[in-house]
Amino acid sequence: AGRAAPPKKHMLKLIILGDSGVGKTSLMNRYHSNKFTGQYKATIGADFLSKHVSITDPQTGAVRSVTLQIWDTAGQERFQSLGVAFYRGADAVALVYDVGDTKSFDNLENWRGEFLKQVGLDERGANFPFVLLGNKIDRPESERRVDRRRAEEWCEKAGLGGEMGGPIPHFETSAKTAENVEGAFLELATLAVIHAEKNRQEEPMLSYAPVAGSDRRVDLHRQGSSSYYDNGYRGNDCC
Ligand code: GDP
Ligand code: MG
Repeated sequence: AGRAAPPKKHMLKLIILGDSGVGKTSLMNRYHSNKFTGQYKATIGADFLSKHVSITDPQTGAVRSVTLQIWDTAGQERFQSLGVAFYRGADAVALVYDVGDTKSFDNLENWRGEFLKQVGLDERGANFPFVLLGNKIDRPESERRVDRRRAEEWCEKAGLGGEMGGPIPHFETSAKTAENVEGAFLELATLAVIHAEKNRQEEPMLSYAPVAGSDRRVDLHRQGSSSYYDNGYRGNDCC
């Protein structure tokens, strides 16, 4: 009550990290367009997709109309580091592994560490929201290599001291069948809203782009690779 009401419209940058082949692009496409192609196609060029959604802030009950800007890697995760422009200004991070691929699970710590390093946060990432997605849950159970309990233990350790107060939320998903995809992104967006609210109080210079059109409108944006590297955070190039 004491402080000014925050703006009701936000743009939030979400990024998806994990080994090549775990299904990052497929998850993004499933969430954004409710599609799954099943073709392997390393993303060419760098881009993000935008999606308008309404998020209920669990702390205040306020409904926020937000534009999610979901950034996918351009396949560089195989060869090189992604570059600071990809990480910069992220409001929340989805870490993805393949439940049938132990190596992709073991690499989560590296992805998390690399992100924290690139954005200049301390080792524990105490103030940053992550969500963990174990993907390809539609595959036969006999091909599973990472059991749920093991992933939950990792989430407990990695979430220690987090401002979200507890384990990193974990979802087992399928981009193929859509299982849990909506729920995982909703959690990601909700944590991003909470995080952005907090940060904005500390950094009042941050501006938020107005949300155009209705809540349910979905836009597809593809950026050229040069503008990708120039793209700063919270620009107005969306919508
Ligand atoms: P990325 O490299 O992390 O972006 O992974 P992609 O989205 O390109 O997916 C890599 C491969 O895994 C593709 O052949 C996808 O069709 C497949 N794939 C992605 N998600 C799933 C899933 O949930 N279930 C199954 N069975 N295959 C998936
Ligand atoms: Mg990809």
